[in-house]
Amino acid sequence: MSALTRRGFLRASGLGLGVLAGGGLAGCAASMKGDFAPKTGPRVVVIGGGWGGATAAKYVRLLDPGVEVVLIEPNRQFVSCPFSNLVLAGLRSIDSLTMGYDGLRKHGVRIIHETASAIEPDTKRVRLGEGYLQYDRLMVSPGVDFQWEQVEGLAQSQDTVLHAWKAGPQTVRLAQQLAAMPDGGVFVLSIPLAAYRCPPGPYERTSMVAWYLKTSKPRSKLIVLDANQNIISKTALFRAAWQAYPNIDYRPASRVIGVDPGAREVRTEFDRIRYDVVNLIPPQRAGAIAVQADLVGGDLPVPKSGNVANAMGKIAAASVVSLINGKQPPSLAPGNTCYSWVSDREAIAVVNAYKIDNGKVVQIEQKLTPAQSPLVAQRAVGWAQSIWADILA
Ligand SMILES: Cc1cc2nc3c(=O)[nH]c(=O)nc-3n(C[C@H](O)[C@H](O)[C@H](O)COP(=O)(O)OP(=O)(O)OC[C@H]3O[C@@H](n4cnc5c(N)ncnc54)[C@H](O)[C@@H]3O)c2cc1C
Repeated sequence: MSALTRRGFLRASGLGLGVLAGGGLAGCAASMKGDFAPKTGPRVVVIGGGWGGATAAKYVRLLDPGVEVVLIEPNRQFVSCPFSNLVLAGLRSIDSLTMGYDGLRKHGVRIIHETASAIEPDTKRVRLGEGYLQYDRLMVSPGVDFQWEQVEGLAQSQDTVLHAWKAGPQTVRLAQQLAAMPDGGVFVLSIPLAAYRCPPGPYERTSMVAWYLKTSKPRSKLIVLDANQNIISKTALFRAAWQAYPNIDYRPASRVIGVDPGAREVRTEFDRIRYDVVNLIPPQRAGAIAVQADLVGGDLPVPKSGNVANAMGKIAAASVVSLINGKQPPSLAPGNTCYSWVSDREAIAVVNAYKIDNGKVVQIEQKLTPAQSPLVAQRAVGWAQSIWADILA
């Protein structure tokens, strides 16, 4: 897959674009004509109000309240992907993962609920509706888009063959489909080739669906079709956790190449598999606007996690504020802590530490929890609460 946009941050910032991922600029496409909000001082525009972009917007304001920050994000609420696998198992509500943007407004971030349609680096403009916004520095954090065309039949069945890989309505619908599946039914989960958003996410999902089936539909089966050769993250820990779930039929090197919702079948290169409920996670690439603006080169060797997006949001904010003030941007490496739930009360985790070496991000250490435990699960809850507050409060 093409690199995710955050990863191109350093490259693009040299072009006057800081890549990542106020007050009261409400979204109103009709009034967005020409330069609809003329700039009166230094301005940073941020495209995308997810983990990377919302963090960056807040931290620019914290680091330099003299800089105007305008965040462009179509959604009126932020829904956390982390913990959304618990919604599938009926252990959490989507409401508990849904947060507003008022905290950012309190920091003076101006928010426009629209989709940016183009970036014009030569004139330092972002196109919105029929108008544009001028910027001094731009941060681009649009997350991922799906490559529907890589699975035959998927583009035309996007509304029924669910990915639930952007937390929100699809998460709720997939949970409903799972709850409505008859006992004895087959749930098929398909995992794309890496790299994709959140390396352990599909294996956490496997654990949560298997836990739900074991407790609520014990005659049912979960077939996992993984395009990768093996579990790509926390491998031994997931394998150990799955000892408790004989209902999992894990099939590595099984790339799904087609889906037929009429026949309720997915196709790999070798096989056809019937399903009662399917969760097809499509291959991914950087969000369209980053691809259009040619910002996707230079992927970093870090997981595409919310934790890294949050860290990169702060690093990008520090860099942009330095550049605006005529200073050398600091050389900062991200870190990553990633929790995965494996049952209703137990989780596992990995911590990665990085440094900057000759201008490149290099991993210096990786540590895994020795085993799944309720204590790690408690820490996961603490992590989520503190990082959501760091992004949005
Ligand atoms: C099931 C699941 C579980 C996960 N669990 C974890 C976990 O436990 N820990 C962890 O660290 N990470 C986890 N992740 C990964 C995490 O959610 C992502 O890494 C994170 O969301 C990436 O942040 P982002 O800012 O790059 O993208 P996003 O959070 O997706 O934000 C991108 C935003 O950009 C907006 N946007 C896109 N295009 C435009 C445009 N043209 N104009 C304006 N706005 C635009 C979108 O609306 C979106 O709000 C999980 C992911 C999934 C799917």
